[in-house]
Amino acid sequence: MAPTPQWLRRRTVKPEPAGDVLWEICRSCGERLYKKDLAEKLWVCPRCGYHFRLHALDRIALLADGDFQELAALLATGDPLQWSDRMPYAEKIAGDRKKSGLLEAIVVGLCRIDGVRVGLGVMDFFFRGGTMGSVVGEKVTLLIEEAARQRLPVVLVTASGGARMEEGVIALMQLAKTTAAVERFSELGLPLITVLTDPTTGGVSASFGFQGDIIIAEAGAAIGFAGRRVIDQTIRQKLPEGFQSAEFLLEHGQVDMVVRRSELKGVLGKVLRFLAAQAVPA
Ligand SMILES: [Zn+2]
Repeated sequence: MAPTPQWLRRRTVKPEPAGDVLWEICRSCGERLYKKDLAEKLWVCPRCGYHFRLHALDRIALLADGDFQELAALLATGDPLQWSDRMPYAEKIAGDRKKSGLLEAIVVGLCRIDGVRVGLGVMDFFFRGGTMGSVVGEKVTLLIEEAARQRLPVVLVTASGGARMEEGVIALMQLAKTTAAVERFSELGLPLITVLTDPTTGGVSASFGFQGDIIIAEAGAAIGFAGRRVIDQTIRQKLPEGFQSAEFLLEHGQVDMVVRRSELKGVLGKVLRFLAAQAVPA
């Protein structure tokens, strides 16, 4: 396993204001883990292998060769519906921006992964649950269009609760928009690799998430469309244990491989080089 880059180490041990500064409890085995060690281990529990959710910038540090150039960094939602429920949408966004240091739930840009130049987009579940509103949809589309211009493959790392409720039908439109962008990209003979991480659900799994030419799932990730309770109440049938896990989906042919975080960069590099060798010149 490659050593953790210095700036990833610095960032991942940054204390979070609400939680314990030094310790983290594993959600799977209950082990109490020292955050600094956990960051060194890429936020994977050393006892049971549980993969903690990763911030977008940490994921980029893990995958990019240190040359990430962000695109459309300043795109921000305009609160198109002037939405308010428990609190105004604008306030929720402002809070998430402060906590995450991001303007939106995805970061997109160009970089190399294991030496191969790609367009890379990484979603952040800690920002509005990784929901897709107008800006997420626009940034995914812009990334795909820029990669098409430069004839680069695209890697999209998803983590999402679905479409962003507070943007109503404008959020739903992003499913059609991103799907159409992937379709145009595919017609050029360029490959899209999606990496589904915990959790990938709703509008993102129903659009570009499952449109990858190669679909990789991170070990242990919950992946599906509707949640278990919604399906239970709709079809009134007993659902199999673990039916929305990465491993279950692999067994049933819904994803191409399940990869552990420590191996993800190497696997992506191999897949990208393999696809480049098969490519037909433009
Ligand atoms: Zn554990």
